[in-house]
Amino acid sequence: MISFDQLGLNTALLDAIKARGFETPTPIQAEMIPFLLTEERDVTGLAQTGTGKTAAFGLPILQNLDLQSRSTQALILTPTRELGLQVSREIAEYGKNLRGLRTTTVYGGAPFGPQIRDLRAGPHIITATPGRLKDLLDKGIADLSALRFLVLDEADQMLDMGFKDELDAILATANPSRRTLLFSATMPPEVARIAATYMKNPHEIVSGRRNQSVGTVIHYFYRVHAHDKYEALRRLIDVKSGMYAIIFCRTRETVKDVAARLSRDGYTADALHGELAQNQRDSVMDRFREGNPSLLVATDVAARGLDVDNLTHVIHYDLPDEVSAYTHRSGRTGRAGKSGASLALVHMREGHRVAQIERIIGRKMEEAKIPRGHDICEARLMDLLLRVKDVEVNEEAVGPYLQAVRDSLAEFDREELLQRFISVEFNRFLEQYAGSVDLNPTVSKAPPKRRESGPMVSLRLNVGRRQSILPPQIIGMINKATDSGNIRIGRINIDADSCEVQVDSAMAQRVEQALNGYSFQGKTIRVERVADRRPATGKQRGPWRSSGKDRPPARRPKKGRKDKASRNG
Ligand code: ADP
Ligand code: MG
Repeated sequence: MISFDQLGLNTALLDAIKARGFETPTPIQAEMIPFLLTEERDVTGLAQTGTGKTAAFGLPILQNLDLQSRSTQALILTPTRELGLQVSREIAEYGKNLRGLRTTTVYGGAPFGPQIRDLRAGPHIITATPGRLKDLLDKGIADLSALRFLVLDEADQMLDMGFKDELDAILATANPSRRTLLFSATMPPEVARIAATYMKNPHEIVSGRRNQSVGTVIHYFYRVHAHDKYEALRRLIDVKSGMYAIIFCRTRETVKDVAARLSRDGYTADALHGELAQNQRDSVMDRFREGNPSLLVATDVAARGLDVDNLTHVIHYDLPDEVSAYTHRSGRTGRAGKSGASLALVHMREGHRVAQIERIIGRKMEEAKIPRGHDICEARLMDLLLRVKDVEVNEEAVGPYLQAVRDSLAEFDREELLQRFISVEFNRFLEQYAGSVDLNPTVSKAPPKRRESGPMVSLRLNVGRRQSILPPQIIGMINKATDSGNIRIGRINIDADSCEVQVDSAMAQRVEQALNGYSFQGKTIRVERVADRRPATGKQRGPWRSSGKDRPPARRPKKGRKDKASRNG
């Protein structure tokens, strides 16, 4: 196993790392630190949260600083104030043995005065949120003309938060001969665009499998009707004892509502959302870090600065709008070698989102059932029994009380004692779930409505007769890859090594994305759009007659003809 001493870091930094208590570098540190110290190239790092990226870029930057100079040599952009402060604190700690090191953090929502003062002092490293830094640049305060390192930390989050214009402005004005380092948990097109526009031949470092969520997280999803979500949430909480979890909701209204209902129902839960003042947010986060309360209901943005290592669960009360947010949420459990679970409540119309998330995280989400009342009672009883079996009895401490206990329970025999002892812990669940209903929706077999007409797009796949593919398999593959039985499919043509399939143009992109990389009999599917080869004016050569409009006829199921036959045309 590689050690920090082998990475080429100087003793001032190695001492600080040792003081910090780190023993071995994380994989991304082991790869990135020597690279940044020896090569002059830009770098993109694709890695989940919690993989140690701050030290991976922070240590080489610190080693490269010219501390005699008063110019700003490194800029680290982070999505939120909390992350900025966290990175800044960490860098200051690694650099604590570097004489004369000046660092500063700037972020929005705070007065300009002190930040301007700090910037005028000529910090070597600035950590900033994009919005505030852009404002300061516009005022002519910060000077990035001598910058040597520009770090985009959590680039996908910055773009999710709408910092596109600010990033463009900052990247376009900072010293063009700087090195740019970009870190992101996912690589959506917007992030790829930033990399393509502002980075030179970047070296790509991927920590773990590309786009994969942390290895020890198990992903479950539960189908529920939207109106049963809260009841379902309670059951997920009740079935586990000792749950330490963040419950993510899409909006602050939902956060407030869920937290209020949980409190009313006897759970200890706090709410974290953007309406709270900073000091309130800080105290909510502090309490939660200490584990009391052990449930936190939060929006994605508000929870960003919250660093907790030992969450047992992340619950997606709502699925996030952006898949990258799912990765960030789930990356908060299963940390530091522990295992964790990510539980998503998915309502009936969100099936395709599951497939989308699976593709990005590169693993299956297991479909699980909302526990029924008696499942919960049973689980809690088993848990109680385990705790009774495992508890350490301190004879000395309980000794003095035993006689009194014996006397007061003398009237009960063993059987009665057991019953009472269970009921103390258990009545709450028995009462709560007496007569409770099953929240798992019955899956309706009726096919959902599909659009019957509209423009079609032809896609070519790199499988054909040689792979013995037939139309039903192509249709099956599309349905499965997109997790939908609802996509209108037109003509299918199969050649020796490829096939063409027409799909509803509104769905074409989804089909394309879902099928690309899909595997058919061991062969990786590649999809390309077939260019429209119809003459601009004349008649279409397709199977349908031009109706003057650019669309095929409606594909209606015809009596007595099998789907396969009509598609095989
Ligand atoms: P990321 O930026 O990838 O989300 P961080 O840099 O914030 O991750 O690191 C996550 C946590 O791991 C932090 O608490 C950090 O102090 C700790 N950490 C980083 N590197 C190591 C290491 N080599 N050994 C142990 N802990 C580490
Ligand atoms: Mg980080």
